[in-house]
Amino acid sequence: MFLESISTEMKLLLQTLDEFVREEILPLERPFLLHDFDTLLPATEEVRQRAKGLGLWLPQIPEAYGGMGLTLFEHGLVSERLGRTPLGHYILNCQAPDAGNMEILIEHGTPEQKERFLMPLLAGDIRSCFSMTEPENAGSNPTWLSTTATKDGDDYLVNGHKWFSTGADGAAFAIVMAVTDPAAARHQRASMIIVPVDTPGFHIVENTSVMGERGQGWASHGEIRYDDCRVPQSNRLGAEGMGFVIAQQRLGPGRIHHCMRWIGICERAFDLMCRQATLRELAPGRTLAEMGPVQNWIAESRAEIDAARLLVLQTAYKIDREGAYAARDDISLIKFHVAGVLQAVLDRAIQVHGAMGMTDETPLAFWYRHERAARIYDGPDEVHKWSVARRILSRYA
Ligand SMILES: Cc1cc2nc3c(=O)[nH]c(=O)nc-3n(C[C@H](O)[C@H](O)[C@H](O)COP(=O)(O)OP(=O)(O)OC[C@H]3O[C@@H](n4cnc5c(N)ncnc54)[C@H](O)[C@@H]3O)c2cc1C
Repeated sequence: MFLESISTEMKLLLQTLDEFVREEILPLERPFLLHDFDTLLPATEEVRQRAKGLGLWLPQIPEAYGGMGLTLFEHGLVSERLGRTPLGHYILNCQAPDAGNMEILIEHGTPEQKERFLMPLLAGDIRSCFSMTEPENAGSNPTWLSTTATKDGDDYLVNGHKWFSTGADGAAFAIVMAVTDPAAARHQRASMIIVPVDTPGFHIVENTSVMGERGQGWASHGEIRYDDCRVPQSNRLGAEGMGFVIAQQRLGPGRIHHCMRWIGICERAFDLMCRQATLRELAPGRTLAEMGPVQNWIAESRAEIDAARLLVLQTAYKIDREGAYAARDDISLIKFHVAGVLQAVLDRAIQVHGAMGMTDETPLAFWYRHERAARIYDGPDEVHKWSVARRILSRYA
């Protein structure tokens, strides 16, 4: 039913986007896989400017803020196209973690915060990071934080230790989750504080090595120390104690954005798998495509990807109409389900490629390394399964 709601304009936009991905973004893929992020910056910047010139910019942001004003459902369709190549979302300025930060700045930012932090982020002139997870505390319990923001005159002094702040390297500011009232109820202890990276006491310890790769720039995960970082209290995002609520608001759409991107990765992996199966000969005239296990992988993957897409679009459709809270079970279901499909499809595609699957001749190995984390970030599988099952069972109690 919801597929019928795809307008003619939307179909045209998807065609334009397919062309742009093919002509402009795909040529960046191999250099991205073989070189560091900074080396590629001038080239990515040129393509970003061309995307902007064509109006292919900020698909997830309302028109009033210079975005394309798409619904979440429409953004799902766009995101799938962009997900087919690792730089897709970055080129249209809808990459994590900036996309989530833009959304909460739009929703909760003061006019001054919007002017100083949001506008350059929307323009693509700066990047940002989101700094919540701490090595010392279980990230699965977001109310348990050691980082503090203590009032000192008109300022906060931020002290703490974070890691996995994606894109911290080269970011202009961090949105930091810090405890502002340790005596408050669990969900009201923390606030979000904007800390510009040139604040004395802000220190990136290192880009954490992830499956052998430290990465660079946007494609990295920073370990950060905040030592007496002094920022004005006017840098607090939203009311004091609202940190947890805003984090939940950020993570709801954030999770669905990831799922949409993963469908794109699955489609690309599927395409590569089928091409390789038909091209690779085991003996003259006898291709991999004739082998039963390969045929099974192709059939299973097709069914799993199509089912996952419908589930994701159905969830987006529900959020557009009823809001993220009403769709919280659906969001949890797609978060663990699509992450599992992604992992299975990537694994099969690599297997079909044999040794080549382990190289960076295709993006499969990059995704396999980086998207293993899909089952961990924005809530591990087990947490989502637990919360959905609990709510379902409560209806039987
Ligand atoms: C690639 C990547 C990017 C990230 N980017 C960011 C970012 O930009 N900003 C940021 O702040 N954080 C980021 N994170 C951190 C991420 O949000 C956390 O890793 C996640 O919340 C899990 O927390 P944890 O790693 O401390 O695992 P823990 O909380 O220690 O959990 C470990 C394991 O315990 C199990 N577990 C946990 N709770 C339950 C439960 N209730 N029932 C059963 N089993 C359970 C799960 O299997 C889980 O994987 C990123 C992580 C990765 C890997």
